[in-house]
Amino acid sequence: MKTDPYWWEAAPRPEIATAELPKKVDVAIVGSGYTGLIAALKLVEAGRSVAVFDSGAIGSGASSRNSGFVGRTLKYSFGDLVKSKGPDHAIATYREMQTAFQAVADTVAEYAIDCAFQVRGRLVLAETAGQFEDIKREYDLRYRHLGSPFEILEKGGLPREIGSPRYVGGVILPDLASIHPGLYHAGLVRAVMARGIPLHPFTRVSALGRDNDGFNVATDRGQLRAGDVILATNGYTDGLLPWLQRRLIPFDAWQMATEALPQALIDQLLPNDRTYIDSFMNVDAIRRAPDGSRILYTGKTGTRSDQVTMARRLMEELKVTFPDLKDVGVSHSWTGRCAATFDLLPHLGTHEGIHYAVGYCFAGLPMGSHFGRLLAQRILQPGSVKSVFADQPFRTVPLYQGNNWFVPWMMRYYDLKEGKRHAA
Ligand SMILES: Cc1cc2nc3c(=O)[nH]c(=O)nc-3n(C[C@H](O)[C@H](O)[C@H](O)COP(=O)(O)OP(=O)(O)OC[C@H]3O[C@@H](n4cnc5c(N)ncnc54)[C@H](O)[C@@H]3O)c2cc1C
Repeated sequence: MKTDPYWWEAAPRPEIATAELPKKVDVAIVGSGYTGLIAALKLVEAGRSVAVFDSGAIGSGASSRNSGFVGRTLKYSFGDLVKSKGPDHAIATYREMQTAFQAVADTVAEYAIDCAFQVRGRLVLAETAGQFEDIKREYDLRYRHLGSPFEILEKGGLPREIGSPRYVGGVILPDLASIHPGLYHAGLVRAVMARGIPLHPFTRVSALGRDNDGFNVATDRGQLRAGDVILATNGYTDGLLPWLQRRLIPFDAWQMATEALPQALIDQLLPNDRTYIDSFMNVDAIRRAPDGSRILYTGKTGTRSDQVTMARRLMEELKVTFPDLKDVGVSHSWTGRCAATFDLLPHLGTHEGIHYAVGYCFAGLPMGSHFGRLLAQRILQPGSVKSVFADQPFRTVPLYQGNNWFVPWMMRYYDLKEGKRHAA
């Protein structure tokens, strides 16, 4: 079993020679995932000079590790937003989620990225009658306010969509997409390199000092000057800006790939090649690999473990969903970090002159693609960005410094509250 992401088979981490640091750039970008690279592209296309730094290999954060589900959903449901903030705010929020979804499609088209982007729909599954009623209500509300299409799938219709005895019904969202996240990121790297944008892997930005002319950027390979700084560090946000670290809750997310499966078995289990999620807070996410060779499963988010133990536990869970996989092994098992916020909403803003876009709450493919563009726009045309997520109060809780020790307990609490069953 391999412990690197399955995605790295087709999109290995790019080998980039160590380049000398520039003395000065218009914008220093910390983080080389979707957010950082898209911001870099848009800034350079507008004539600004940029340097991108990453403490690890380029794209070694969540952008090359995720499940590749491209949606327009937050953990904060549309129905809950209507109740807490009113219909106008909920509509504006979810309209912007659609813009974020579109940002992925636009980026793929604009940079001609071959990354298995396909719109085959998502199936949201219910394990209990209560969940089924909840998701029907949620998607009906979205249809009425936003026109988002959906189709209700009663229990009798499930076998034509999924070969699992686990669920009582579901809702199909026909216009959502999937992608090969590694190839999407690799396409961005290619576009960045074609424009001569310097990428600095294994270069941690360790301190930022602000003065009247901009920033002194200290890295573990030397210093430079920058007019502006962007933090695009999401789940990997460290102590560089403690203010930001105190507002983010990093989550470990776990994913595995089965060994290659017979085509007939995949066609029986996931006949329509959609993306599949259940309706728990501690969500299970299932899909085919883009080449149709195997099944990929994401679950047990927020749990602490090692990759080998987790591979076994994830496979046991997957067998509960698909008993037909009883003799199947794991080919890859890996982990990555995403970030939640205390209000369950993504945030875009500027603190002490430093621009940030973080807290994607598991919607980082669309939100990173969208916010990367908005970050560049904020620098190019200050005051022009219109976003429901921009410059909103960004709360933390007293004494919280960014240590996420409570996450496993919180996820257990949700499992108990919602009755999520786990493999024995
Ligand atoms: C297993 C998993 C499954 C997921 N599934 C999905 C999904 O299906 N759909 C979806 O929409 N989202 C999903 N997500 C979330 C999504 O992948 C992320 O939200 C998104 O990739 C964040 O992109 P980013 O560019 O903001 O940050 P990242 O890609 O995480 O990059 C941040 C980078 O910042 C660097 N960094 C941090 N501090 C410093 C520093 N001081 N100096 C230099 N570099 C620094 C890190 O090394 C890291 O490479 C998933 C995440 C995981 C882990």
